[in-house]
Amino acid sequence: MENTSTLAERLPWEQPWWRPAPGQWATFGYLISIHILSLIGLILYPIPSGSIFVVALSLLLLGGLGTSVCYHRALAHRTAKLNAVVEHILIFFTVFNGSGSPIQWTANHRHHHAQADTIDDVSSPRFGGFWWAHLRWLYQWPQSDPRRWSPDLMGNRYLVWSTLQPMLVGGSLFWGLLVFGWEGFFWIGPIRLMYALHMQCFVNSLLHLSPDAPEHTDSSRNIWWLGPLQLTAWGENWHRNHHQNPNSARFGWTTWQVDMGWYFLMLLEKFRLVKDVKRPRTLRPREKGAHSNARLERRRPRSSRHSTEGRVQNPTA
Ligand SMILES: [Zn+2]
Ligand SMILES: [Zn+2]
Repeated sequence: MENTSTLAERLPWEQPWWRPAPGQWATFGYLISIHILSLIGLILYPIPSGSIFVVALSLLLLGGLGTSVCYHRALAHRTAKLNAVVEHILIFFTVFNGSGSPIQWTANHRHHHAQADTIDDVSSPRFGGFWWAHLRWLYQWPQSDPRRWSPDLMGNRYLVWSTLQPMLVGGSLFWGLLVFGWEGFFWIGPIRLMYALHMQCFVNSLLHLSPDAPEHTDSSRNIWWLGPLQLTAWGENWHRNHHQNPNSARFGWTTWQVDMGWYFLMLLEKFRLVKDVKRPRTLRPREKGAHSNARLERRRPRSSRHSTEGRVQNPTA
């Protein structure tokens, strides 16, 4: 399972793209299937009906919130503690969006932060290039070991989602057929899943694509135009902000840096459905156009100023 020490020896990106790693055939088959089916669907039904589009879009929006708010901010970085019901609803829609189980996603992501910008960062484009970082690492290298990277999630509360994942992804792919017929199948199934996949994969590929950055320097980027395409995961596109301050639940540092996940967290906080939201005390180094740290500090509610900052352990920081 472990994959920290052998990347430099094996250089897996030099393999042909169509050769999955042992044990990764199911992932490879899934990726190939949704792409072929999406292509067929776009040829047969280039424009979906209104109701089918609304259903597909709603699932994308809920899955985007689940990935960004629950998996990334709450579970992987522990920058917020979600109400258990909200957490599991979000996990459901994230698994349903094809984003994987919470345990495996968290393991992969913490591993990425721990090894970022070295040859052991398996999802980096620095050595393997764009397509390696975008898709190929998902099936041409073993996933990060949850026993090492997400042991805090190994209880039944999260393990159950790993068990349910194949059934949920199968249901996610096919249930549109039962309700809406073939047009529903293609748009609510493979086309939606392919869109969700690529929007998330851009975080590893495009948002780390800095060919001129020397090794061991931060390759992460903020790309404004990716945000609207990521729908409710809009906020993940401020990835440089995030790498510079992974202990903050807030990714957008300025008013104009739209961060849907942060707004959602603020809404949940109003209804007491989240606690221990970690706000940035300092932002470093100061980004061009970023507001001052003092301004961000002023915005923190009084109740949080004695807060959680520095108290909650972040295994990735
Ligand atoms: Zn992160
Ligand atoms: Zn990153």
